[in-house]
Amino acid sequence: MHSTNTAVSIRDRQKAFMAQPSPDTSAAQSSGTHSPETFVIDKTFADLGLKPAVLEGLTKRGFKHPTRIQAALIPVALAGKDVLGQAKTGTGKTAAFGLPLLQKLDPEASFSALVLVPTRELAIQVAKELQELGAFAKVQTVAVYGGQPVEKQRPLLAKGPPIVVGTPGRVMDLAERGLLPFADFRFAILDEVDRMLDIGFRDDIRKILGKLKKVPQTIFVSATISPDIEKLARSYMKDPEKIVTFEKSLTVAQVKQSYFAVERWDKKRLLLHLLKKEAPGLTVVFCRTKRAVDEVALYLNKHKIDAHAMHGDMYQKKRDAVMGKLREGDLSVLVASDLAARGLDVDDITHVVNYDMPEDPEVYIHRIGRTARAGRKGIAWSFVAPDQGELLTNIEMLANVEIPTVGYDDFQPGPVPAEVAALREHEAKRREDSQQSRNRTAGPEVPVVAAVDPNMFPDGIVPTALPDRRLGGRARTKRR
Ligand code: ADP
Ligand code: MG
Repeated sequence: MHSTNTAVSIRDRQKAFMAQPSPDTSAAQSSGTHSPETFVIDKTFADLGLKPAVLEGLTKRGFKHPTRIQAALIPVALAGKDVLGQAKTGTGKTAAFGLPLLQKLDPEASFSALVLVPTRELAIQVAKELQELGAFAKVQTVAVYGGQPVEKQRPLLAKGPPIVVGTPGRVMDLAERGLLPFADFRFAILDEVDRMLDIGFRDDIRKILGKLKKVPQTIFVSATISPDIEKLARSYMKDPEKIVTFEKSLTVAQVKQSYFAVERWDKKRLLLHLLKKEAPGLTVVFCRTKRAVDEVALYLNKHKIDAHAMHGDMYQKKRDAVMGKLREGDLSVLVASDLAARGLDVDDITHVVNYDMPEDPEVYIHRIGRTARAGRKGIAWSFVAPDQGELLTNIEMLANVEIPTVGYDDFQPGPVPAEVAALREHEAKRREDSQQSRNRTAGPEVPVVAAVDPNMFPDGIVPTALPDRRLGGRARTKRR
């Protein structure tokens, strides 16, 4: 099913999608690349003070103008200051922290910059971007991450690259084995800094940064940085400059967001319906659990959709294979856990589906940021169950956007499944029973109002019912 035919048709669908006029954005933005929301079109990279060898790498990559975060962050980092940078998803934060490294590092000086990222896929991707940009400056970068045998990484490290990009667990492991010396690191970068400093990674980061011998220049970046995280981040930095390059909303204007109000039991069918009807270019479907990921992928496969699963319980080889297909445009749907929510940069992703709404509104920002990258367009659909209105509101408040609902068109919601109906009936009965027993124990209703003498309540507040039984028949008032 995943023949080159699929690849061609996905590419074509992606192109067709990009060619459609965008109803929400200005002509300049809908032309895709170089929208002023993302790029500083009156500046070049030379204006930022980068040297010819680094500029050559940028030309080779086809980067013409810096993005807003690059234009703002690069000069500050080049001046040697610590930087905390916040910019929207897909606006080139990798090059923003990478280019100053390529400019400042001596190609011969081993283990000078340590870049920490939350996932293995991101380690590979970030290292690749730095390798490409650094080709002419001749600054080498190596990726180290779990799931790949240490023996594969040993010879790469033996060459003593100036830049190491890694996931925290593997970085610590390699350091303990004596393969990754910490003595000379003078730059410490945290990509996705809020994820790196949240509870899952916090200890590892503290240990790693604590072991560096030199006080490093730090550059920490993310699309989302809460006040708490900022405080923690600052404790690792020397008088950092905070650079924020968005004004109103946290999400990119070119991503068209909407939600479907849908019962949980209808979600699979609705997803299938949308995929068949809308024929998206390349879609990432996010589910909350690994089990849901597998289930949804299987369901789509059964209905002849070329969907592949990705989550943290899969072997790295399998994860790499799926990523390979994704980058080749050789699959049409990736069903993923939040493993894929952060940082991944794949050109052809046109649609993101929040099949399960994330509990954490920041996760939403990152998930939908897998589309509409570097000034492109994208669509984000969220499936919101009847009891999840609050999640949606929290997201709207954090992102500062209004997410409109969309109708179903020709989709028919299914009947309430038997087990849900039975459960609801059971619940209703339970409520009724407890109401009855409450009535019984409460005894016959006493006509309180008729019995009381209003003159006994000089404040004018006359009770209309007996005090709550939990108060033991006594009413507590301020007067006592
Ligand atoms: P972020 O980390 O902000 O989400 P990335 O660093 O992954 O974004 O970059 C998103 C995409 O934009 C990548 O494909 C990258 O190669 C591309 N990109 C970055 N900077 C530029 C630029 N100045 N011009 C054109 N493309 C760029
Ligand atoms: Mg990134």
